[in-house]
Order: sequence, then C-alpha cells, then structure tokens
Amino acid sequence: MVIADLHTHTTASDGDCSPELLLANAVESGVELLALTDHDTLAGYYALRNQTNLPLELISGIELSSQCMGVSVHIVGLNVNADCPTFVKRVNAQQLARIARAKDIADKLSKLGLKGVVEFIELNESQNKVVSRPDIAKFLVESGQVKTIKQAFDRYLGAGKKGDVKQFWPELDEVVNWINEAGGVAVFAHPESYNVTRTKLRRILNMFVDAGGRAIEMPHITKGPDFSRYIERLCQELNLMASVGSDFHTEKQAWRKLGRVPTICENLTPVWTCF
Ligand code: AMP
Ligand code: MN
Ligand code: MN
Ligand code: MN
Repeated sequence: MVIADLHTHTTASDGDCSPELLLANAVESGVELLALTDHDTLAGYYALRNQTNLPLELISGIELSSQCMGVSVHIVGLNVNADCPTFVKRVNAQQLARIARAKDIADKLSKLGLKGVVEFIELNESQNKVVSRPDIAKFLVESGQVKTIKQAFDRYLGAGKKGDVKQFWPELDEVVNWINEAGGVAVFAHPESYNVTRTKLRRILNMFVDAGGRAIEMPHITKGPDFSRYIERLCQELNLMASVGSDFHTEKQAWRKLGRVPTICENLTPVWTCF
C-alpha cells in the first residue's frame, strides 16, 4: 500500500516547519503521497505546487474549521481545485473569521485578567499574521502567565473554556459543500479528538454524510484498538472512504511523526483511490 500522509501542518498555519522543510522531511520519512493541510489556508500548498520534479506525489489540502451541535469540527479538504475562485474567496473569509475570533478571544482573556493578549493580536494583525490558539498559548507562556502550552489550553483555550470561541466558524454542512463545489473530497478529521459521546459523534458523522462528506480519518493509535475498530465499523456502515494523516505540527510532539499513520484495514477503501 502507498505510504500516505494526508494531514500535516506548516508555518502557513500552526506548524513549525516551512512547506519546503516539511516536504524534505516527508521524503526522508518515506512518504509517497502528501497533503499539506494547514488551518483555513492553502498557502502551504501554493508554496510547493510549482516545484518541478517533486520527489513524491503532492495533492492540494486544507483543514477547514467548522461547528456542529456546539462542537468545533475540523474538515480536511483533499484534492480541491486550489484555483477555484469561489473556494479561494471562502478560504479568505475563513482567514477574516480567524482574525475576528482572535480579537474575541483576546477580549475574553483580558476580562479574565490576562495581560497583553489584545496588543499581541493587534501586533500580529498589523504584520498580516493570522493567529490560532497555539500562538496565543505560546504568548501566554512567554509572558509568564501560564507555565506550559498544556496549561494554557487546560485553563483558557481548550474545548469548553472561555477562549475556545466557535461562533465565527461556518456550519459543518456548509464547509463540506465548499469542498465538494471545489471538486475535492471532504474528510472528517481526527474523530478521536472531539471529547463527545459515541452517540453524539455518530450524529455529527451522520450530518457529515448527509452534507456530502466522503471519508473519515483513521484514529490515532494512542486512542486504542477498541476506538479504531468502532471507527472502522462506522466507516463501512456509512459507506465512507478511509483517510490517514499524522496531523504533524512539530518535531517536539513525539507521538505525531510524519508518515506515521495507522494502517487502513482491507475492507475499507483508501481515499486516494478517488483522486
Ligand atoms: P485553532 O485552529 O485556532 O482553533 O487552534 C486549534 C489548534 O490548537 C489545533 O489544531 C491544535 O494544533 C491545537 N490544540 C488544540 N487543543 C490543544 C491542546 N489541548 N493542547 C495543545 N494544542 C492544542
Ligand atoms: Mn493545529
Ligand atoms: Mn484539527
Ligand atoms: Mn490538523
């Protein structure tokens, strides 16, 4: 089976590696089919797509933020037409939503007594940098207001906390539709990460399928074999294809290595068969 990594991040969003370095590291790790799926931007893909003699197959990718039933849901779009004007416009709107959301998060955090977040966001905006929660977490660590990134998420930024602002994101079905209209495949990202009951996850997945979603990522191994089998069963039942990705952000996270992805079991159809 082809060695694929269809969920990775670069400096175009909250990853540590430039698109060029990520490509080199992916090749080094034996990856044959790669997608850069930065949060709400195609910039990483744009940076690489004109390289001639790429040493692996690169497909377009993006990880779009959405919401469904009060949960922030991430949808990976693969093999989209990255020049589709409507899609590009929608992606730009996501970036604007990100800026508005960052300001909202900053206001909420300053009401909680945290210092300097508003100025930090304004500074980034003036430099045309789009901020995500990990950037805010890093700022809180560097300004000595929390000890670790984990503490920043546990106290302020994680799911259900004050700084986890969802209302700027479009509904799940809209985002799936955008991807389909751009000729891509909508993939339900990291099903293990939503912190919801299986009943609620199934409901969200049903909505994803009804909206035209076509694949689901196989869960990270650390979630355990029981959850993986559950997702494999759902995948078959809902007639979805299977995708795999490391969700690589940084060398600092030992559990997310480029190319280190679960194996797709034989009774499921790999997503790349439709590219
Ligand atoms: P955003 O796109 O701004 O909502 O930020 C989401 C990103 O934050 C995710 O893609 C992860 O990279 C990171 N993240 C989410 N939850 C946590 C957490 N509990 N600890 C560390 N990083 C997290
Ligand atoms: Mn991220
Ligand atoms: Mn995600
Ligand atoms: Mn991701």
